[in-house]
Amino acid sequence: LSEKLQNVFKNLRSKGRLTEDDVKTALKEVKMALLEADVNFRVVKKFVKDVQERAIGQDVMSGLNPGQMVIKIVNEEMVKLMGSETTEIAFRPGKELTVIMMVGLQGAGKTTTTAKIAGKLKTKGKKTLLAACDVYRPAAIEQLQINGEKQGVEVFAMGNKNKPADIAKAAVEHAKKEDCNVLIIDTAGRLHVDEEMMDELVEIKEAVDVFQTILVVDAMTGQDAVNVASTFNDKIGIDGVVLTKLDGDTRGGAALSIRAVTGKPILYAGMGEKLSDLEQFYPDRMASRILGMGDVLTMIEKAQENLDEEKAKELEQKMRKNEFDFEMYLESMSQMKKMGGLSSLMGMMPGLGLGGGKMPEIDTDEAEKNMRRIEAIIHSMTPQERKNPNLLNPSRKNRIARGAGVQVAEVNRLVKQFEQTKKMMKQMPGMMGGKRGKRGMF
Ligand code: GDP
Ligand code: MG
Repeated sequence: LSEKLQNVFKNLRSKGRLTEDDVKTALKEVKMALLEADVNFRVVKKFVKDVQERAIGQDVMSGLNPGQMVIKIVNEEMVKLMGSETTEIAFRPGKELTVIMMVGLQGAGKTTTTAKIAGKLKTKGKKTLLAACDVYRPAAIEQLQINGEKQGVEVFAMGNKNKPADIAKAAVEHAKKEDCNVLIIDTAGRLHVDEEMMDELVEIKEAVDVFQTILVVDAMTGQDAVNVASTFNDKIGIDGVVLTKLDGDTRGGAALSIRAVTGKPILYAGMGEKLSDLEQFYPDRMASRILGMGDVLTMIEKAQENLDEEKAKELEQKMRKNEFDFEMYLESMSQMKKMGGLSSLMGMMPGLGLGGGKMPEIDTDEAEKNMRRIEAIIHSMTPQERKNPNLLNPSRKNRIARGAGVQVAEVNRLVKQFEQTKKMMKQMPGMMGGKRGKRGMF
């Protein structure tokens, strides 16, 4: 019996480590996907190198082949690189006015995004004022006014005869007078990065106390977006990025590059021309999109399914510490359902196989039916009973059987097998005594 159990656990444990070959082979595919997604070449190079260093020698989770394991690491690193969690715009504390300056090239989507953000802030209960500081583009002021009106947000404008820095200053005064929480300054872009534009932005920043500088970039410009982002960051400093026109860009490479090059978070994704088309940025989705450029996505999906493996490991530990109760039993069953492939774990679960002392070939249909009945039984237990099966006296068992729609005998069998398994778990460390591996349990 101990041998069989040992086999079961072996399947739960790692299947060795990633070799240099494993990693290099898988990363070749990743590299292709990244380049196809229009991620900046230097970013790709550094990323691949970093992942390679991290991955070689790592344990391969069971259920994954080495290639999938590398992809899993790649995916995690990409998500990390893009900021892991969605980042929000920062605000000054309390009632202090937060001034946000929108910067970016002409046509990137600054004016549109300004109004989009204003709408978001409104739903958050912030009183916002928009300032029209694009004095060059014909009809730029009117465009902001129209959008502001649509959002029900006031727009501060002084025509196009004043310097942007002066308009900004006056807008701050106005915002304070009107008790606004936020002032968003819409600035003028140029077709290309040039000194005049940068000087103007610096001037605004010197004239008013800008708390957040947000760069708006067009995702469709791909690699160019990276250069733009790094120049803006160097010259005036940015706090976050809005990536627009992602609705038209299937590649998504700009997101990874920009974050990698500037180190600044992507705050929002523009998903269309309508003022409601502004979404939170989700690094995990973007990672999938980028990796989806190659043939890697299916591999990723497979790997994701196996993430639950980690939970199974946790369970194994708890079993060994003899903390196993019916609550965990339920949890582990739902794990198994998700993982499917882990029929080996099934053999370990009381009532599903091993409990009788033999390791049967698992009839999946039968096992599933069984699982449903067992679930029904455990669901009929009170939380206390689940935690402490010793409470299960005959009258309680009767009640449970009725609740689950099964015979009492079935409840008895489950409890008995559960106790047996628990006992086995307890004995196991002794049984395997002394021969612990370097990392594994045995
Ligand atoms: P600005 O020059 O930076 O102020 O850019 P605008 O706000 O005037 O936007 C330029 C064009 O891009 C307009 O036609 C917008 O409707 C469009 N636009 C802005 N954001 C998005 C977006 O997320 N998706 C799409 N499809 N179009 C956008
Ligand atoms: Mg504009």
